[in-house]
Amino acid sequence: MKPLVAGNWKMHKGPKATSEFFERFRTPCQTDEVTLLVFPPILSLTAARKAVDKGGIQVELGVQHIHSEVEGAYTGETSAEMAAEAGASYALVGHSERRQLFGESDADTRVRVAAALRAGLVPLLCVGETLEDRQAGRLEAVLRRQLDAVVAFPELGESLARSETPLVLAYEPVWAIGTGETATPEDASAAHGLLRESLRAAFGDQRSRSIPILYGGSVKPGNSRELLSSPDVDGVLVGGASLDPRSFAEIAGSAC
Ligand code: PEP
Repeated sequence: MKPLVAGNWKMHKGPKATSEFFERFRTPCQTDEVTLLVFPPILSLTAARKAVDKGGIQVELGVQHIHSEVEGAYTGETSAEMAAEAGASYALVGHSERRQLFGESDADTRVRVAAALRAGLVPLLCVGETLEDRQAGRLEAVLRRQLDAVVAFPELGESLARSETPLVLAYEPVWAIGTGETATPEDASAAHGLLRESLRAAFGDQRSRSIPILYGGSVKPGNSRELLSSPDVDGVLVGGASLDPRSFAEIAGSAC
C-alpha cells in the first residue's frame, strides 16, 4: 500500500501563510511513492488549492471539519460539498480535539463520514484512547467503540465494506497529541493490529487490508522513519511538525 503522509494544520496559517508554505515546500518523493495530504484551515483552502495547482505540487488537500447537512441554517459550519467545491478531496472526522473540545460524539463521526462520502470526499476517521483509558486497560474497548460506531452501522457499514468506497483510519492516542510524547512503534503496531482485526471482523480479510491506518501523535522528522516502518503502520498524521515546510518534507522523505 502506498504510504500516506498527512499534515493537520489545526487553526494555524491564514491564506497568506498558506501560500508561503507551498512556495517553500519541496517534496522529496515521486508521486507514485507516497501520497501527501494537507488539512489547512477552511479559510485557507482556496489559497492552498491555488498554490498547489500553480506550483504543480503533488499534494492532496483536505478539510478539518464538515457538517452533516448539504446546506442550511447552521451558522459557522461548512458542508462537505462546499469543501469539495473549494478543492478538498479528504475530510478529517473525529479528531480528538473535535471530540474533546467541541463535544463530538461517536454518532457525530458517523454522520460526518456519511456526509464526506456523499460529497465524494475520502473520510479520514481518527480514533484513539486517553491516558486514563489506557491506564485502566480500556484501549481495545475504546478503539472498538469508536470504529464500530462507523463501520458497524447498518447502511454505512455496507457501503464501507465495498472496496470502491474510500476510508482511511488514523490511530491517534490522545496522550501523544501535541505533547511531545510519542507512542513507541510497538504501541502503535499493537493498536493498529487491533483496528485491523476489527476491520477484518466487519469486512473480511481482503477489504480490511485495503484500508490505510495512519499513526498520529507527536510525529517528527526524528521518529517518522521508525514509525513508518512498523508493522501495520501505513502512514502518519502530523500536527505541529507539518507547519514547517522543511520538517514536513523531511517526514515525507522518510516514507519514500
Ligand atoms: C494531530 O493533530 O493530529 C497531531 C497528531 O498533532 P501532533 O503531531 O502535534 O501531536
